[in-house]
Amino acid sequence: MNKKIIVFSTILLGLVVCSCNKTNQHNGNSNSTAKTISEQENADVTQVKNSAAQIYAKQQVPVLCYHRISEGNKSEYTVSPATFTAHVKILADSGYHSISPAQLYDYLVYNKPLPPKPFMISFDDSRIEHSAIAAPILEKYGFRGVFFIMTITYNKKNYMTKDEIAQLAKAGHTVGMHSWDHTMTTKYKEAADWQKQVVEPKKKLEAIVCKPVDYWAYPNGVFDHKSAVELSKYFKLSFILTSKRDSIVPLQTVRRMIVPEWTAQGMLKSMKRTFGK
Ligand SMILES: [Zn+2]
Repeated sequence: MNKKIIVFSTILLGLVVCSCNKTNQHNGNSNSTAKTISEQENADVTQVKNSAAQIYAKQQVPVLCYHRISEGNKSEYTVSPATFTAHVKILADSGYHSISPAQLYDYLVYNKPLPPKPFMISFDDSRIEHSAIAAPILEKYGFRGVFFIMTITYNKKNYMTKDEIAQLAKAGHTVGMHSWDHTMTTKYKEAADWQKQVVEPKKKLEAIVCKPVDYWAYPNGVFDHKSAVELSKYFKLSFILTSKRDSIVPLQTVRRMIVPEWTAQGMLKSMKRTFGK
């Protein structure tokens, strides 16, 4: 084979293997899961980390959790677009600042400062309206969200496409994991279950967003101590719902509050009551 063909083939292979831009690519390869966290830890070695007890004792940051944003279908998992807009607007008008899970991690582990009135806003289950409705409204008010993807839904009707998910990451939102098919974490018994629900989909999602995926939301918010400990091998933070945190692994049991069709004032009140702020 002549030299030109070899060079051309090599470039082509590179393009096929990874379409991620070098500047924001981070360990898209098969060892990414374990490496991502440990490399990060090495970089942080000069900073003193808080103990689990110190992390557990810190003031909680309010974390909101939305599912469907649509008309009709009244359940605790659905808010109308108008209600969602009103929620976002009152947060902006009240001086709240959205933070990323990376900021939350640095606050919990290293006491890094947060902006005044911090909150995190998150979305579960990869619904199409998350990119079509929620993200543009957040961006209009200068907020960024966290989108937890159940990866079995790629390109399915009513769910985001891979491109739409990638676009969220490009726009400054955070993309996290919500398992492969929404099986609860407490049901993963064998290594093969962890492989199917966590390891493989995490790798694929990282290749789509060209970034490490360091955050997990438990399907149905359900966890136990064992699964929380196991998840700490793969994720910097994992999010539960409003149940009690695990004081031994507080980073893997960060609380969130589901927001139903409440008035904007009602949402704010409930947020303060739930997170004590
Ligand atoms: Zn879910």
